[in-house]
Amino acid sequence: MNLLEKSNAILEDTIKIRREIHKNPEIGYELPKTFAFVKDRLSAYGVDEIICPGRCSVVGVIKGRKGPGKCIGLRCDMDALPVLEETGLSFCSLTPGAMHACGHDLHTAMMLGIAKILCDIRDEFSGTVKVIFEAGEETQPGGATGIIQSGAVDDVDAFLATHVIPGEDNIGLIGIRKGAVTTSADEVKIKIHGKSSHGSQPQNANDAILAATQINLLLQQLQARNISPLDTCILSMNLIRGGTAINIIADECYMEGALRAYTQEARTIATQKIRDICSGVEILSGCNIDADINLGYDACYNDEALVDLIIDTLDENSYYILKEPMSFSEDYSFFGTKTGKPSVLMFLNAGHAPGMKASVLHRSDCTFDENAMKYGMAAMLHSALAFLKK
Ligand SMILES: [Zn+2]
Ligand SMILES: [Zn+2]
Repeated sequence: MNLLEKSNAILEDTIKIRREIHKNPEIGYELPKTFAFVKDRLSAYGVDEIICPGRCSVVGVIKGRKGPGKCIGLRCDMDALPVLEETGLSFCSLTPGAMHACGHDLHTAMMLGIAKILCDIRDEFSGTVKVIFEAGEETQPGGATGIIQSGAVDDVDAFLATHVIPGEDNIGLIGIRKGAVTTSADEVKIKIHGKSSHGSQPQNANDAILAATQINLLLQQLQARNISPLDTCILSMNLIRGGTAINIIADECYMEGALRAYTQEARTIATQKIRDICSGVEILSGCNIDADINLGYDACYNDEALVDLIIDTLDENSYYILKEPMSFSEDYSFFGTKTGKPSVLMFLNAGHAPGMKASVLHRSDCTFDENAMKYGMAAMLHSALAFLKK
């Protein structure tokens, strides 16, 4: 079965759908227009069941008519970002301050195309495909958790997703690798309560700013001395606020930062060491120090056997092995970590719009080459059918 030909045959319609979604971006968990659009399309294609697992997420169920079998979940995300679009595209956002700058419009359009093709070929496979349309990926705690908790994906045996990547090279190629592909993302918030004094009388003060600067320096030795040199954690304190005047020793200081790691081991060590450093400086400085660490998205970890199955299935000219993981985060990770099922996140090199320069995700000038979508659809379809066949 030539799935690339089938994807190419619906490319024009997929581009129309993508542009419609791009023109009408919605942010967060409440995506009423996108939700209605996706549900309408799925029922027009004739999926066997449409599940609404809460907020504006949608799960379409497509059963193969060759008989019962395994179940694979194909996931996309549908939400936009609070960005003022500056692409100048003819189909640019009609909502000022909202833009599909992370390519979720392409993800949604591709997944609808995949659903259509699967409905058309359901005589030719056994088992079930669940096409998962997630709301609220960009907003912590993320829409994935609600879908998982609803029970809508309890019967799914493995998960697969594709994220588009803008760029100049390898347009239409799938990038894939085993193991870590994205980082975890946690928020670190440190509040320091000291004692203020006249600037000339430091012996009467517990200097909150001095404590904050000591903490910040000590945090930078996490990677150097606590994490294996073969592993990575990224910790940067990106906001600091304290003090009132040049001649008053500050009694309060507040810091915020972001912690990212590829492995749960590095993440656990880092969170413990952040607390240890704060406790140590608390003793030294005489300040009270509260360290809040809000755990965000897990790291995505690509199941090795599932990656093997996918690269055995794909045409050798249609993919390449990614040398490095991405440094951003995705709540798609929860479909693996919260269910314990194997999952894979692949990347589709999706170039840029004709006549424009390649940009980066989340930027106001980020565009894509829409033709890349047919390769993304074909890769997901090939992989899903190979999993159901195995
Ligand atoms: Zn994003
Ligand atoms: Zn994204």
